[in-house]
Amino acid sequence: MTIGRKLSEYDKSIERAEELATEYSFAAKPLLFYRQILIAQKQLYSTLIKTLGKEPTSGKGGELRGQLDLAVLLPNYLNFLSVVQENAPEPLARAAEELSRQGSNEWTRLLGEYWALGGMPDENGVSRSSEGLGALREFLARGFLQGYAELAAETFPEPAMDATPYICPKCDSLPVLGVLRPEGDGGKRFLRCAFCSHEWGFRRILCPACGEEREDKLPVYVAEQFPHIRVECCDTCKHYLRTIDLTKNGNAVPEADDLAAIPLTLWAQEYGYKRIHTNLLGA
Ligand SMILES: [Zn+2]
Ligand SMILES: [Zn+2]
Repeated sequence: MTIGRKLSEYDKSIERAEELATEYSFAAKPLLFYRQILIAQKQLYSTLIKTLGKEPTSGKGGELRGQLDLAVLLPNYLNFLSVVQENAPEPLARAAEELSRQGSNEWTRLLGEYWALGGMPDENGVSRSSEGLGALREFLARGFLQGYAELAAETFPEPAMDATPYICPKCDSLPVLGVLRPEGDGGKRFLRCAFCSHEWGFRRILCPACGEEREDKLPVYVAEQFPHIRVECCDTCKHYLRTIDLTKNGNAVPEADDLAAIPLTLWAQEYGYKRIHTNLLGA
């Protein structure tokens, strides 16, 4: 197990966010904000590696979402909140400022709630944290804990997969994205977890929200502007998954490219499709 592998991935994402901000000027603002978040996340991630080493507290006891290591996390939270405060659009910046004033009891409560429920579906398949916390507060917890969750997932043993799981086999969260990775002459589809970023293999012709497998119920929309991004819809449950096709563009970085694709969010809304789980910026 190579711990620290992710640090170079942060650099790749930061670079890609800069590239995309130039290429898609309409998405420059959110992409440059995301870049600031990535820089803060990378810094936190390297602190976590040093402090937690190869064994983050979570992961012990057979559960990825074990005890949150607040002694390590809380001293870093104020810095994250001030990065958001300085770079985010108005309502989010204000929420960060308010939370930074509220102090550590409130931080503990928010982070604990997200850690327990983040990305997990309720009985209707809706993320319990998105619904319970609201978009702004969810961001303030999710953006901060993402690296911690990824580190926990990296050190968490690969679960045995006997079926095609619709939620993350490591942490039970909904998928945020699909990723098509080159394999043979085509691409193999993976689902990427909204909470811990773990990827697991998933059949290409199968709705990850309701299990529909009839091809004529699963239309795929690709815009000229984003030839490497597929909007994979389901006409049975009206959900969609956005899939980054790395066979079409090997330079794409799924999370960053997804944030550039604002017109695809608008398109899906117009046609009445709902995303299975929103991305970090709530789109
Ligand atoms: Zn997960
Ligand atoms: Zn469906």
